[in-house]
Amino acid sequence: LRNDPSPSTATLKAVDLAHHLHPFTDHQELRGDGGARVIASGKGCYLTDTEGARLLDGMGGLWCVNIGYGRPELAEVAARQMQELPYYNSFFKTTMPATVQLAEDLAALTPEGLNRAFFSNSGSEANDTNIRIARMYWQKQGQPDRTVIVSRNLAYHGSTIAAASLTGLASMHDIPGIPIPDIVHAPAPFWWANGGDMSPEEFGLQAARGLEETILAVGPERVAAFIGEPVQGAGGVIVPPSTYWPEVQRICRKYGILLIVDEVICGFGRTGRWFGSQTFDIAPDIMTVAKGMSSGYLPISASIVHDRVAEVVFDGPGRFPHGYTYSGHPVAAAVARENIAIMKREGVVERVGGDIGPYFQERLATLLDHELVGEVRGVSLMAAVELTRDKKGRSAVEPLGGLATPVRNACFENGLTTRAVRDCLVFSPPLVISRAEVDELVSILRRSLDQQL
Ligand code: PLP
Repeated sequence: LRNDPSPSTATLKAVDLAHHLHPFTDHQELRGDGGARVIASGKGCYLTDTEGARLLDGMGGLWCVNIGYGRPELAEVAARQMQELPYYNSFFKTTMPATVQLAEDLAALTPEGLNRAFFSNSGSEANDTNIRIARMYWQKQGQPDRTVIVSRNLAYHGSTIAAASLTGLASMHDIPGIPIPDIVHAPAPFWWANGGDMSPEEFGLQAARGLEETILAVGPERVAAFIGEPVQGAGGVIVPPSTYWPEVQRICRKYGILLIVDEVICGFGRTGRWFGSQTFDIAPDIMTVAKGMSSGYLPISASIVHDRVAEVVFDGPGRFPHGYTYSGHPVAAAVARENIAIMKREGVVERVGGDIGPYFQERLATLLDHELVGEVRGVSLMAAVELTRDKKGRSAVEPLGGLATPVRNACFENGLTTRAVRDCLVFSPPLVISRAEVDELVSILRRSLDQQL
């Protein structure tokens, strides 16, 4: 491969199997499949593989390519910034123009009071940062025993050891040593699976009560923060009932617990507003953003900290002993700024909330007549299609993933990327998806479902 200017697909697959370790992948299965599909290019909502086949990207990369592939403006901004200043850091009383400007842009864009940004490179690192900010906050407030972070079952907050501990997916805890101490999990507001005979509204209150019970079991005086995604994404697009978030916020306020809202997926337009916190009327103390902030063109994330928390942690004497070599990387910052500018210029978020988001949900809901579809749920451009052979009983019947994995594979063959999570398929297409592309997505999905009958 080293001397081959245009390697064949077969060569790429073989070398990939020999030398590349894939995240979250069963390598035996990958080998059995003959190797990974090699994605060569992308334009708009479509990917093209090295054999020329086109795929409609129903996942927007990994919930991140919000403005779609192949935007030359982002490449130009990155090239310009690389020539001007490819790297510097802000550790030792220095800073960079693009980083400063992005921090200011974020302060203007995010809800009231969220005015201070600490940059990292990934959602996982930002959530690690959040744990340290929350614990330092309480230490500086004279309550050093407040160290426990309450997360939820089915949460996804990342893959570093601390973020994987926050994550509430059992498979993520298979490796010894996870969860680390002082992280506990409360119930998820997953009505379809756990709501029984309750209405979604009743169940939302019950799930919030589960949070309160978790806090009381730990002892409120030991709890530093609660972390939650507005809509749990990788856990299966779990949209909380309308009663859930108001009650959760009431409970956090009652016990004086910091509220960390993980907007890594929901942020930057996915739910039809700039942030999921606006869609669900949540007032975070700290907000995690990543993915859609740069549309995935370069890695960058941030912990956006409310003034009242930043004043305690950052404005007094002493330093915050934390940071990454690439915190506030100027090229990633410049790209994120341009991404946000494009989204504003083109009214991307307004179109998601007012037109294409509702259209996507409406078209997906047409699949409810299908024998294998138990529920379609979602908000704007994030959705899950729950598969079942027991439509009325709301249960899976098949072994876990028994339907979702083959349907996902069929979609992949039929030209659509999606992701299987337990028994559902999840979707988060680029926010620039057209109505015709939504129709195509739904039609490929229906065809792939029919193939399982
Ligand atoms: N938080 C949420 C809500 C996510 O969905 C993810 C990734 O999917 C993360 C955090 C972790 O982000 P990263 O993979 O960039 O570390």
